Amino acid sequence: MLGQLRFLTLMDVVGAVIDIAIVAYVLYRFFILIRGTRAIQLLKGVAILLIATFASQFLRLYTVNWILANARLMLAVAVPVVFQPELRKFLEQIGRGRFFKGSSLMLMGEANVGRMLDEVTKAVGQMSRNRIGALIILERETGLGDYIETGISIEGLVSAEFLVNIFVPNTPLHDGAVIIRGDRVLAAACFLPFTDAQVGTEFGGRHRAALGITEVSDSIAIAVSEETGTISLANAGRVVRHLDVKTVGEMLASLLKAKEE
Ligand code: ATP
Ligand code: MG
Repeated sequence: MLGQLRFLTLMDVVGAVIDIAIVAYVLYRFFILIRGTRAIQLLKGVAILLIATFASQFLRLYTVNWILANARLMLAVAVPVVFQPELRKFLEQIGRGRFFKGSSLMLMGEANVGRMLDEVTKAVGQMSRNRIGALIILERETGLGDYIETGISIEGLVSAEFLVNIFVPNTPLHDGAVIIRGDRVLAAACFLPFTDAQVGTEFGGRHRAALGITEVSDSIAIAVSEETGTISLANAGRVVRHLDVKTVGEMLASLLKAKEE
C-alpha cells in the first residue's frame, strides 16, 4: 500500500518535471520567435490589460471592470487576425522541424549545390558590375508555391548566363523575383510580400521584398540594386548590404551548409 503510494508520488514528480520542462521550452521558443516583432507590443498590451482588470476589481470600479472584461473577449478574436503572419511563422517552424526533414537542396548532393551557388554568385557579380537590378530567391524548406504562382513558370537549369538574361532591363521577365528550387529556376517575374519592418528610405520595393520573403519563409534572398549595383543578402528577416561577390558566395555556402547540418 505504502509502496504503491510512493510509486504514484514519484510518477507525479516525474510528470510535473516533464510538464514544466515542456512548457518552459515552448515559452522559450515562443519568445525567440517574437523577439523584435510586433508581438512584443501585443504582450505588453495584454499585460497592462490584465493588471488594469485586477486593479479595477480590487478598487470595485465595476463599470471599468466590465469594459475591461469585454475587451479581453475582443482581444481573443482580434489577436489571431492581426497576428496571422506571426502565428503562421510559428506553426511553420513547428511543422518544418518535426515533419519535413529533407529539402530539395539536401536531396541534390553537394556537388550540384556547389555548382548552382557558383552560377548564382557569378550572375550576381556580373549584374552588380553592369548595374542590372535583380532579385533572386533560393527556396529551402518552406515551399514558395504561393509566390511562384504569381510569376511566369520556367523550370530551367540554373546558369549565370540564364540568370543575367532574365534580368536584362525592359525584357518581359526582368520585373520581379526569380525563385530557385534546387538547381532549377522555377519561375521569374514573381511578386513577393513587402516587409513590415521599419526600414530606411534607401530600401525601395526590391529590397523590402527581399526582406519580406525571408520573414515568411526560411528562404535566402539576394538583391542587386539597379541604382547602385550594391549586393544585399537577406535571411530570416535580416539583411546585410554592400557585399562583394566573394563574400556573397561564402555567405551562401555557409548558410546552405548550416541548414543541412
Ligand atoms: P533598386 O536599388 O534596384 O532601385 P529598390 O529597392 O529601390 O531597388 P525599386 O526601385 O522600388 O526597388 O524597384 C525596383 C524593381 O524591384 C522593380 O522594378 C521590380 O522589378 C522589383 N520589385 C519591386 N517590388 C517587388 C516585389 N514586391 N516583388 C518582386 N519584385 C519587386
Ligand atoms: Mg529604386
